[in-house]
Amino acid sequence: MVDFLERIPKPSKLGINQGLTTPTASFLLQELGNPREDYTGECQNPTNPAFKKLVATRDVGPFRATGLIPALESLKAVLADVRNELPELHDSLSSEGMLCCRFRKINGKAVAPPSSHSWGTAIDLKISNVLDRQGDNMTLRGLALLAKFFNAHGWIWGVSFPTEDAMHFEVSREKLKQFRDAGLL
Ligand SMILES: [Zn+2]
Repeated sequence: MVDFLERIPKPSKLGINQGLTTPTASFLLQELGNPREDYTGECQNPTNPAFKKLVATRDVGPFRATGLIPALESLKAVLADVRNELPELHDSLSSEGMLCCRFRKINGKAVAPPSSHSWGTAIDLKISNVLDRQGDNMTLRGLALLAKFFNAHGWIWGVSFPTEDAMHFEVSREKLKQFRDAGLL
């Protein structure tokens, strides 16, 4: 049986996130508006009424999550694919947070600009309640197995960020444009 919690070196950039671009905070701001006026290192709720209309709480399969509505629908589709191929991995998943208006956190320190979590387009995942350690250039094997499912649906895996963030998956710029073109935003 595969040990989803085994810690393995992060994969080469060549095999992952092909054709997908990480949206900048300014792109998200332009596409989705500003969720709130001010940010700190801690999670806060959105306060902008226009933005709040774009978010909801939904059952996405193994857990409930709060995020941008089309991102939640897409996440549900990703996790349905995981369930079909790797049901044990699917059942071991839980969320460490999706919508969370805050600055980025790098090794525990808050760094501007706001994180994609502020718009509810990113999710941090745990496997059997275990969180990957950010920035050590290693990943839990289960997260590496999830990458192809997320990539297939236009989500970026944060393992290739300048500071490795293997628990983190987020909607790409290309996928956000699809949401926009489909009239979902
Ligand atoms: Zn994250």
